[in-house]
Amino acid sequence: MGKLKKTIKVTEIEGEPMRYRVESWEKPEYPYTVDLSEAKGHGSCICKDYCTTVARNRKEHPGQWHFYGNADSINPKRTQCKHIAAAQRKFLMTTLPSIAAELNPDKP
Ligand SMILES: [Zn+2]
Repeated sequence: MGKLKKTIKVTEIEGEPMRYRVESWEKPEYPYTVDLSEAKGHGSCICKDYCTTVARNRKEHPGQWHFYGNADSINPKRTQCKHIAAAQRKFLMTTLPSIAAELNPDKP
């Protein structure tokens, strides 16, 4: 399995809504903590990319969403690090099914 196909472990932090532990690519034993409720829903992380490039891009493009991209082509204008991107995917995958079930209670 190549680097691009590598999956990353994302887990919800129990009792702390919108907060996730995201495995570090380099050091799986030290996961990053991502809080999706920070920065008006744009999320926060503690990694180097978040503190440098992402912070600068957010300052230059306040309130805008510029997605991370992928390992092949990382968006230079990104306003999220790969950990926030991974936590957002996890959030969608866990939240959308319950919203769908609420809106369509009779559909299987
Ligand atoms: Zn990060």
